Amino acid sequence: MHQILAVEDDPVIRSVLRALLESEQFRFVEAATAERADIEARAHKPDLLLVDLGLPDGDGISVIRKVRSWSPVPIIVLSARTQEEQKIAALDAGADDYVAKPFSAPELLARIRAALRRNIRSAEVPQVLAIGRARIDLSRREAHGPAGEAIHLTPLEYRVLECLARHAGFIVTQDQLVREVWGPGRLGDTRSLRVCMMNLRAKLEPDPHHPAHLITEPGLGYRLRPD
Ligand code: CA
Repeated sequence: MHQILAVEDDPVIRSVLRALLESEQFRFVEAATAERADIEARAHKPDLLLVDLGLPDGDGISVIRKVRSWSPVPIIVLSARTQEEQKIAALDAGADDYVAKPFSAPELLARIRAALRRNIRSAEVPQVLAIGRARIDLSRREAHGPAGEAIHLTPLEYRVLECLARHAGFIVTQDQLVREVWGPGRLGDTRSLRVCMMNLRAKLEPDPHHPAHLITEPGLGYRLRPD
């Protein structure tokens, strides 16, 4: 039985979460403040955290940073739609995903299951990726199309794919990608990243104008949805 810690100061939302998650056979623990969040997380060692960004004694981002300093546990942010900048900061602080409030129960449950399924912080990156009908061998730096034809990817394109593959299914922010692939000196240069993603889609997506695998998260970053 998986245990989930919800960090949320609104008692109504907490009780909705409790009813929903307990009905799905999760064990539910809760914290109403940033301070309690770290204490409960250390005490219970939950399998996943849900973190509201607006807390009375600090923000959710400080909770994420604190927990992330000692645990690789999956963290999903609950954020209002108006908190765009905080959402990015939360992802950069180490959150793995977010669900916008008001959330739909099926969406929240799907995100939770995805996060629990994947060993998201494992150092292991899948070595072979399937994107549409293309297969990409990341370790050998080879890519092939459906008929076995070679697809040429540049070293930068391989590195972007590697970075996305390490967080497969989850959002990687633009800053994370630029920092890892181009280096901290190029932070803010999102144009190179956009061009790179466009080229990757043209080479790998079955329909580059309607990407099914290299997904844009508007204003945040990108998400790899492998086959
Ligand atoms: Ca709140």
